[in-house]
Formats: sequence, C-alpha cells, structure tokens
Amino acid sequence: MKKNLAVVSLVSLVSLVLSLFVLYTPQPVSGDSAFSAVNAASYISEISRDPHSLSDEEAHEVVHDYLKDKLEEFVGVANVQEMNYTAEQVGDDCEYPISNLLATIPGTSETGIMLVAHYDSRGHIGRSGELGRSYGAADDGYGLATLLEIARLYGNRTLSNSIYILMTDGEEVGLYGARMAAQETALMDKVGFIINVEARGVQGAAYMFETSVNNDKVIDFYKNAQMPVSYSLATAVYTVMPNYTDFTEFLAIGKQGVNFAVLDGLYYYHTPFDNYTNIHLNSIQHYGEQIVPLVEEFVTDAQYADVDFFVGTHNQVFFNLLPGVFVAYPDTLAIVFNFILIALFIGLIVFLVMKKQLRLLGLLKSFGFLMGGIVASVLVGLFASKLMAFFGKVPWSLTYVRMQGTELPTLLIMLGTLVGLGFLVRKFLKTKEDKVSLMLAGIGFNLLLATATGFILSGASFLFFIPALCGIVSLILDTFVKNTMVKHMAFSQNLLWNTVILVPILFSLFLALTVGGLLALLLILTLFASIMIPSVFLQLEIGK
Ligand SMILES: [Zn+2]
Repeated sequence: MKKNLAVVSLVSLVSLVLSLFVLYTPQPVSGDSAFSAVNAASYISEISRDPHSLSDEEAHEVVHDYLKDKLEEFVGVANVQEMNYTAEQVGDDCEYPISNLLATIPGTSETGIMLVAHYDSRGHIGRSGELGRSYGAADDGYGLATLLEIARLYGNRTLSNSIYILMTDGEEVGLYGARMAAQETALMDKVGFIINVEARGVQGAAYMFETSVNNDKVIDFYKNAQMPVSYSLATAVYTVMPNYTDFTEFLAIGKQGVNFAVLDGLYYYHTPFDNYTNIHLNSIQHYGEQIVPLVEEFVTDAQYADVDFFVGTHNQVFFNLLPGVFVAYPDTLAIVFNFILIALFIGLIVFLVMKKQLRLLGLLKSFGFLMGGIVASVLVGLFASKLMAFFGKVPWSLTYVRMQGTELPTLLIMLGTLVGLGFLVRKFLKTKEDKVSLMLAGIGFNLLLATATGFILSGASFLFFIPALCGIVSLILDTFVKNTMVKHMAFSQNLLWNTVILVPILFSLFLALTVGGLLALLLILTLFASIMIPSVFLQLEIGK
C-alpha cells in the first residue's frame, strides 16, 4: 500500500511538472542574426508612445509614418506602398480616411505568404467596463513588431516565393483596412497563405487560435513552427462563433491561413495598461519562433507557388501533448478511432459482466453518480463565478468577467472540487467493482461526447477521446494482465496523459473565458476526474 502511494505520488508530481511546461515561452533573443524580441521591443517603444486610434489623428499619423520608414529601410523604398481610401470609399459609417501599408519582398514567384497586423490602437469606443484608450503596445504592437522583424530578416534575401507584409488601418473600429485590402483582387489573387498576428492580452504563450476551414493542409504546414501552441478546440469554436479580427475579412474571401494571439493579461487589453512597461519579451519571441519557420518554409519551397496549395478537404484534430510535442490527425480518422474505442469499451463490459466482475445495475448507478457530480460541479462553477463578479462589482458573462485577482480563488475552487469528488468516491464507492463501474461510466460518457463532437465540432473531440482512450487502456491491462508492474504502468499512463492535457487546457480556457467560464472549467475537470480519480484509487489498491 505504501509502495503504491509512493508510485502514485511520483507519477502525479512528474505529470504536474510536465504539464506546467507545455505553455512554456522562449527566452528573448538579441542581435540581428535571428528574430529578436529585443529589436521588436525597440519598435514597440516608438509605436506605443501615445494612443494612436483612428480618432487620435496626430499620433495615428506619426505611427503610420514610422512604420512606413522602417519598412522602407528593411525592404527598399520601391517595395513599400500606401493603399489609401477615403471615408466614402470605405463606407459602412467610417469617419476617417484609411491608409494601409503594404511591403513586398518579391520572390521568383509572385505567389506569396501575407503577414497581417493592424496599426491603429483601441480608442474610447468599447464594451462596458473598459477604461480609456490603449497605447497599443501589445495590441497590436506585438503584431507590428513581429512583421518588422520579418521584414528586416527577409528584406535582402533571394526568395523562391514572395512575402507580402500588410499593416492595416482601422481594425479596432470596423476592420476597415482589412476589408478594403481583401477587395484588392490583383493583390489577393497572389496570396497563398495568410498569417494574422494579434494580441488579446500581454503575456504568456502566443497561441495559434484560429485557422481557415478545412485546415488539413494548413495544419501540416503549421507543424513547421518551433514550439507550436495550439488546440483544435479553439479553432473549432472559432469557426462557429462570430469573431472580429482582420483575419475574418480574409476568410470571407476564401483565403487559407492562421491567426495568432497571446491571451494572458486580458485585464490589460484595450486599456491604458496596454503600454510599453507591460510588454513581455518572451511572448514576442514566441510569435517569432512560430512564425519565422513558417515564412522560411513558404519562401524556400517552390511547391507553394501554387496559390491554391492550402485549399483543404477536411479538418485536423490537434493539441499540445508535452512541451514542444504537437499531435495532429485527420478528423475522419478521429471518427474511426472513436468507433474502435466504442467496440473495445462494449467488449470489456461484456467480458466483465460474463466473468461476474461487473453488474449492469452497478454500472447504471455509477452513471447516476457521475451525472450528479457533473451537475453539482457545474452549479458550483456558476455560483462561484457569479459571486466573484458580484464582489468585484463587474457584469457577469460566461465568456468575460473583467476582474483582477481571480486566479487564486479559481485554482482553489478547482482543487476543492477535485478533492471533494475524490472524497465522495472514497466514501461511497467501497469495492473494486464500484470503482471500475465509475471509471466505465466516465469512459462511456466521454465516448458519447467524443462521438457527438466528432460529427459536429471535430476539433473538440480529443478533449473527450483522450481520457476515454487512456481509461480503456488502463482497464484492459488491469483486467487481463496479472503483473503488478504492468498494472502500475496501466494506471500511471492514465494519470500522466490526462494531466498533461488537462492542466494547460484549463489554464488556456481560463485565460480565454476569464472566471465567467468557471462552470465550463469545472465541467471539463469533472469529465477528466471521472476517469482519473477511480484510476488513482485502483492503482492504490494494486496487490490488495
Ligand atoms: Zn487587435
């Protein structure tokens, strides 16, 4: 028993430590030989001197001229153009003229990769609770600085395919610049791939959070990135929810590509806190580590000269498994995997019932127990997040509660829920059969959700498929193998894989949804826990 406890503790610790490094960001690089966050910061210090929204006409022009000068310095005066539109040409209630900047680094083929960031900052126009004007240091200084670093690195190179660097105007008030650029068909017909660079926070990992639809080829291409951080859960949700970045305008004309943003520090987003003192060089370096290899791949391989190269036929399911380890597979395959798992699941239940190690009534009871746990944790999540918003005197929404200091309470509530569920399992599920029943109920429910999402929102399916897969593997090995070492490995892998997937996902969802989404966090936690908790108890009882 003591030995079992030691093994479980060790595996938990290793899993937890690994999970904390999945969203790890790189050290900033200085010097001119590679993408440098230090150089990027020097551009941002100029860009973010003053708020430069469309209505800050003077500061807006200063930023426009600074960017134009830098682009001309890096790619040559002849390769930089302004794309100017009067307010009337833009229409759609636009009150100011719009001026995009386009830098071209020509390759042998005119087909190019287009990098996009917006140079206007957020003005006073905003959602409730937002405080004044932003300096635009992260949003979208991170994007502009990333583009300038790439202009610097590639401006004098001989390329197979071209690079188009587009700095858009009027993003914050209506995506005006991107909308006008998307109508420039002579340019757009040459664009094979788009990378939009955004910020919805100031620190942490730069997530690749959105793709074009049918992203099979896009994801194969994204695998070239160093330190990729992306979850198909996000890209899937983004395709069904309305969203507003420049990228939306290019998707609307059928372009392929990806969208990046940092998410941590949502409290600073669109406020005066988005200023130079709050920039994070690791985050900027992380944009570069991902985007530069994509540009390098695109401009050095003649196959991308086909402007329709990235048009796909299906989506991929993908996620970060371990630090720097990115897993991706076609969604069609996900459905096949799922049915294989369902067959194994049913086969295992039939076997256990025939061997009299499992009663169907017990399984049904466990399913009821699980449903109770899910309802209770969702209610706890809803109540606790509303309570926090109430005490913070801010409006509550499932996806946005603008409040500082919610990290620790959220962490404590999640740990409390986990301990509470563990306590209930220990108190009410005495026998091995009870625990196996609960684990089967958890696997069954996750499989149900994996199947449903597999058909309607395939990018989300891994969130349920992986726990079910790990759970089935544990139970099959435990059932058919007598060796205690193998039994330990069977349950340890369950703890390991589920922890390294669950922890970064919960953290990322917390960043994206804020504490308003606590009920969603607790729902996911409970679904994982329904397999992980009985697995831990079964491991503790090995050899008993
Ligand atoms: Zn922005």
